[in-house]
Amino acid sequence: MKPTYSVLRARRGADATLETIADDLRASLPHRDSTRCMNPECSEECIWPAGRGRPARFHDRLCHDRYHLIRGRLLTEMEDIKHALDRTPKPSTDERIYLENQLARRRWLLERYPKLGTDPPKQVASEESG
Ligand SMILES: [Zn+2]
Repeated sequence: MKPTYSVLRARRGADATLETIADDLRASLPHRDSTRCMNPECSEECIWPAGRGRPARFHDRLCHDRYHLIRGRLLTEMEDIKHALDRTPKPSTDERIYLENQLARRRWLLERYPKLGTDPPKQVASEESG
């Protein structure tokens, strides 16, 4: 089994030159060339392209659209919940506890939907969530 990149770098010591990085990357244990689709509801894999093509984050277009739909919904609902919590007069204790729980649940889910470089503009996201 090949050593990891960090092991190879450590073997070279503190004086290792930048010219040796590519060699060490080639000689090291490679990272996998596939990973799960970015849609948390999907278990399909995305494969790193063999050629020059752009690597896919989603295994198909539906997963891409669903990801942005759910993310947009969560963001819109969290905004509304925050407004409801901040309103005057203040919500009752029961309502506040419910709203805080619902906000925390959406925040927890949103961790599975990180902001991507391809996020549509916010207006489009909220339109999609309707
Ligand atoms: Zn997928």
